[in-house]
Amino acid sequence: MPSLLTLHARQILDSRGNPTVEVDCILDDGSTGRAAVPSGASTGTHEALELRDGDQALYGGKSVLQAVKNVNDTIALHLEGKDVGSQREIDTLLLELDGTDNKSKLGANAILGVSMAVCRARATAEKQTLWHSLAAQCKTRFHDGIHLPVPLMNVLNGGAHADNGLSFQECMIVPVGFDRFAEALRAGVETFHTLKSILHAKGLTTAVGDEGGFAPKVQNADEAFSLLLEAIKQAGYEGKVKLAIDAAASEFFKDGVYTIDGHKLDAQGLVHFYKDLCARYPIVSIEDSHSEDDWDGFIAMRQEMGHLVQLVGDDLFVTNPKRIHDGFIKNAANAVLIKVNQIGTVSETVDAIRMAQEQRWHAVVSHRSGETEDTFIAHLAVGLKTGQIKTGSLSRTDRVCKYNELLRIEEEIGARAKYVSPF
Ligand code: PGA
Ligand code: ZN
Repeated sequence: MPSLLTLHARQILDSRGNPTVEVDCILDDGSTGRAAVPSGASTGTHEALELRDGDQALYGGKSVLQAVKNVNDTIALHLEGKDVGSQREIDTLLLELDGTDNKSKLGANAILGVSMAVCRARATAEKQTLWHSLAAQCKTRFHDGIHLPVPLMNVLNGGAHADNGLSFQECMIVPVGFDRFAEALRAGVETFHTLKSILHAKGLTTAVGDEGGFAPKVQNADEAFSLLLEAIKQAGYEGKVKLAIDAAASEFFKDGVYTIDGHKLDAQGLVHFYKDLCARYPIVSIEDSHSEDDWDGFIAMRQEMGHLVQLVGDDLFVTNPKRIHDGFIKNAANAVLIKVNQIGTVSETVDAIRMAQEQRWHAVVSHRSGETEDTFIAHLAVGLKTGQIKTGSLSRTDRVCKYNELLRIEEEIGARAKYVSPF
């Protein structure tokens, strides 16, 4: 395998117009790889550190010039000349170089940009598509076919992603009754467009938010899910498109109280709130039902609802193998959200996915609300056979580019491509 010739980082913009890190990796055989780092808005407290300069004169404090410098100076110095055959070895070097628990010395954005760019350059050197190269690195077994992920599509927003009355951050549609990813995607898109017509007819706004979904002035979850069900029905997909929630409950939790859609509830009251919703709507997945350190809330949720719905930990686990391990011991969920920049290297991301899979929990690969044109996560979902992806709504190129990449991958795979819903 070739060696790393040069690393070059630059500051580019993400989908919100905020600076982020992009890294180019060039190998000594001429192969290149480029990667860009995403960024969240409702970030978990336990996430790896995203290094920002904090200089108010530059992009309101959000510039990432120090992270860029860390790649171009420190990291480049230590990685140049290294064989790139093993992602694990590269990532171990990055971790040693940083030496902190939360990647605060070099910045998780600097480290992740390099980790992903090396991964892409290796795939180029191997003359493989990225998902294929990742699968080989991670020894994924495709004995029952190559699975395209079921998308959880965030078409209606509230919480920290909107300024309407809705407490849940994301109300998603999930196409389950299909044989091909392309058909599932079409159903999602047609439902999204039908939802737009319905909102328009009701005099509600159809402007889209950060993840390309609508953020109409709805007052509560009931109103949101009624609109989604109406759209699914009108689009002709009743029973074939289900619903999912990312409550992002840390955002509506304060001093031991959850303030949701005007109700004040304790952790157990919130479990009953979800139970009631699930009895009335075809909800298949609930993410971050409780606040990020409310383990008892998550445990109660798993006890009462774990046999009925997928319960995903995002801010709870922050893609961190240590916290995921705690989750297993405590039985606090049955699925893990996977965000590359929450943990900061490809290898640790893979560890988080494999841990979940070995425990027979689902792993859902996810974008961030601040994204770029990078389609790495589409490849990660296929290469690691996660079976699910969360990459926003059906508009705006930063979201749609992931779906488009999955269409290309499905085409490339041909007859071996499978679309199987876990729900
Ligand atoms: P974030 O939101 O990227 O703003 O954190 C996504 C999520 O909570 O899943
Ligand atoms: Zn989330």
